[in-house]
Amino acid sequence: MKRVYTFGDGKAEGNAEMRNLLGGKGANLAEMNLLGMPVPPGFTITTEVCNQYTQDGRDAVVRLIQKDVEAAIAHVESLTGKKFDDPANPLLVSVRSGARASMPGMMDTVLNLGMNDATVASLAEKSGNPRFAWDSYRRFVQMYGDVVLGMKPKSKADIDPFEEIMEKVKEQKGVKLDTELDVDDLKNLVKLFKVAVKDFTGKDFPDSAWEQLWGGICAVFDSWMNERAILYRRMNQIPEEWGTAVNVQAMVYGNMGNNSATGVAFSRDAATGENMFNGEYLINAQGEDVVAGIRTPQQITVEGSRRWAALQGISEDDRKNKYPSLEESMPDCAAELIAIANRLEDYYKDMQDMEFTIQDGKLWMLQTRNGKRTGAAMVKIAMDLLRAGQIDEKTTLMRMEPQKLDELLHPVFDKAALKRAKVVAKGLPASPGAAAGQVVFSAEDAEAWAEKKKKVVLVRIETSPEDLRGMAVAQGILTMRGGMTSHAAVVARGMGKCCVSGAGEIKVDYKAKTVEMGGKVYNEGDWISLNGSTGEVYDGQVPTTEPELGGDFGAIMNLAAKYTKTLVRTNADTPRDAKQARNFGAQGIGLCRTEHMFFEGDRIKAVREMILSNDVDGRRNALKKLLPMQRGDFEGIFEAMDGYGVTIRLLDPPLHEFVPHQTATQKELAQEMGLTLEEVKAKVDSLEEFNPMLGHRGCRLGITYPEITEMQTRAIIEAALNMKARGIDVHPEIMIPLVGTLKEIQNQADVINITAAKVFEERGESVPYKVGTMIEVPRAALTADQIATVADFFSFGTNDLTQMTFGYSRDDAPKFLKFYKEHGIIKTDPFEVLDQEGVGQLVRMGVEKGRATKPELKVGICGEHGGEPSSVKFCAKLGMNYVSCSPYRVPIARVAAAQAAIEG
Ligand code: PEP
Ligand code: MG
Repeated sequence: MKRVYTFGDGKAEGNAEMRNLLGGKGANLAEMNLLGMPVPPGFTITTEVCNQYTQDGRDAVVRLIQKDVEAAIAHVESLTGKKFDDPANPLLVSVRSGARASMPGMMDTVLNLGMNDATVASLAEKSGNPRFAWDSYRRFVQMYGDVVLGMKPKSKADIDPFEEIMEKVKEQKGVKLDTELDVDDLKNLVKLFKVAVKDFTGKDFPDSAWEQLWGGICAVFDSWMNERAILYRRMNQIPEEWGTAVNVQAMVYGNMGNNSATGVAFSRDAATGENMFNGEYLINAQGEDVVAGIRTPQQITVEGSRRWAALQGISEDDRKNKYPSLEESMPDCAAELIAIANRLEDYYKDMQDMEFTIQDGKLWMLQTRNGKRTGAAMVKIAMDLLRAGQIDEKTTLMRMEPQKLDELLHPVFDKAALKRAKVVAKGLPASPGAAAGQVVFSAEDAEAWAEKKKKVVLVRIETSPEDLRGMAVAQGILTMRGGMTSHAAVVARGMGKCCVSGAGEIKVDYKAKTVEMGGKVYNEGDWISLNGSTGEVYDGQVPTTEPELGGDFGAIMNLAAKYTKTLVRTNADTPRDAKQARNFGAQGIGLCRTEHMFFEGDRIKAVREMILSNDVDGRRNALKKLLPMQRGDFEGIFEAMDGYGVTIRLLDPPLHEFVPHQTATQKELAQEMGLTLEEVKAKVDSLEEFNPMLGHRGCRLGITYPEITEMQTRAIIEAALNMKARGIDVHPEIMIPLVGTLKEIQNQADVINITAAKVFEERGESVPYKVGTMIEVPRAALTADQIATVADFFSFGTNDLTQMTFGYSRDDAPKFLKFYKEHGIIKTDPFEVLDQEGVGQLVRMGVEKGRATKPELKVGICGEHGGEPSSVKFCAKLGMNYVSCSPYRVPIARVAAAQAAIEG
């Protein structure tokens, strides 16, 4: 088994294909050598050695690879003409981590390894720059002490012991900046640093370069298991078994004088995707100086430099003198760098993000990788590469991170303004987009303010269906409680409206009309801004810009349509949402939640009258008033979905959600219905349940009050007949919620079929329709074979299925799920990402048992997971006919479904 891979001078033992073994950085360093690019020579210790290290410990691993590492160092010595641990002509190296997936800043790095009192002198002499040599030495002792010897403070609140010493020395000298320290000061610092090391470790600082090297290598392996890295892996689902490689490389210096520099470059624009090489550099600097932001980096190209200067209001003369581009200051290096960037992009066929250093006029490449990019850049770069014949259609689709398409569909914050904005609270990123508005605390106020053409953000402790109208007119919604599938989140996503939910630390006071966030009290009318994609809440009004759906986006959607095997439907409750979703490419409605229509206009009155009635006749009377309104909505939806299936679900939520809870509104209702306030109150109280989500809801309502099912069925069938008469191609599908037993579905299917037959007879014509059920109670999945004897279709309601499988309340879970996530009890919120291991078993069982009874059974999913890429892929691979999601997630689901088909 080969454990150490060398590279240098146009040769390498590894290559770009060996990413798993050599890590991303190691594989690409090898490849750049093979491509003949200037890379400081070095070697990579494999990720497998890291696993062995974790398992067998330091001594065993050092013994195992000692000979290989010695040989590899000899290889670097022969290429550089220098010698490791040699006072006269020392080879200095860097030791860096490099995992399979990039984990920025998570693991450790040691630079300048090989320095000691003897080698520093020869570095000073060779570079002709003693200050540079002693500064490197000072940095090395500090870095080694922090990283290898464990002197870095564990908490951010504690100060680094070396920084403390440095502050003291500067204070004594009366200077502020590190750069004001001279050679003698730096020599003194090295001495003091070493004393600190001895105090801490009880041993002298290691002078031997070999001892330093082993310390550095083992520190990188150790850092794979540090807390930061473990947390990052958990958050990004990177398996521990991947391990990290270690890259040891000859040092090159960008801080050797004014003929040296260091920088980063991108082969295309990572923000817009524009095919424009760009990047930044600093003369006489090390990598960390670029990141630290103390000095202003300069642009690499003249064009980029001019653009930058224009934005900063800097004159062309000033720009040339003070901030020249690399093309102007070091034209040969710039030309070489651009040629390399082009070749790398040609080779990897993707946008590259590169690090380089120029030492004394010679360019060295330190790293290349596929660059991170925005959603817009992702789409544009992939389509440009496809058109240039660099990649094929399937690769283009596989290049999409579906979730990122979302950035293209919503308003976004102005980038510059966002940098200055102050975050005052953080909640769940419940529905993406950007919103700025004045704070209001009730749906009524939201409507009143919106009527006066004001932009509002609706702030609620939690939302209920009563808030729907307020939500519709608000720019965004902020709630204190509620998770990713809370009412506010689901409804907001459906509307494509920005929403931050479950911001537990804010304090909402409805009476005082205030919300306290980030130590400030906001009154009604104060401006705040929400980022529904990150969950951040900002003080004041951060300007937003509208999205533009360019041609490339459409082209990606066409490609998705070409390769997908799974249809994407939408969850939409109104004709408006249905139209929007169809524009995004939805092929039918997978879930129409009829109760959402109950809050529009005056309908809620009729709904309340129905609920408060004491007998069937009273209920029937009230339902009669609702019938034409529901029928009208259904007509609009059938029209919007001409030619496609429309699944309409019968009433689902517990009735107490529809009745008024405030005395004033109760009084009004009592008057209208000719009842006393006490009677209304008593009825409202009687609807109160300990556990409404497990209470009198779903088909349990339709079974106890069949007249509701009758009215809704009639509305659906009549609407279908009316639209059919107008030449619309209708495909109604009636869905029964919360079924757990065969008897339940039989009962409701009978009511539906009898009602439909009656309507057909009255009208003297008919239309084909389907009757199916949600699978959202675990028992339904377990007995799917029986339920399929009655159902024409199944639609997995994974919101409730997750709730009931885990026993986590959809609305209360955020309180502890956040803690669970941070402490590694769960990897992801199961209400967001389908739990394939547990809930997924029930889904699989439901599909298999259902189709065992009825092979042609139509199966889909309509829980929120229907728009989450990994869940969409899971469903597609189970052979579901469709997934259904809120309109703004349709493009995401379409691409994820196409990817599932390509992956096979
Ligand atoms: C579900 O439970 O997954 C579902 C789609 O229904 P609702 O969210 O309306 O309960
Ligand atoms: Mg449900």
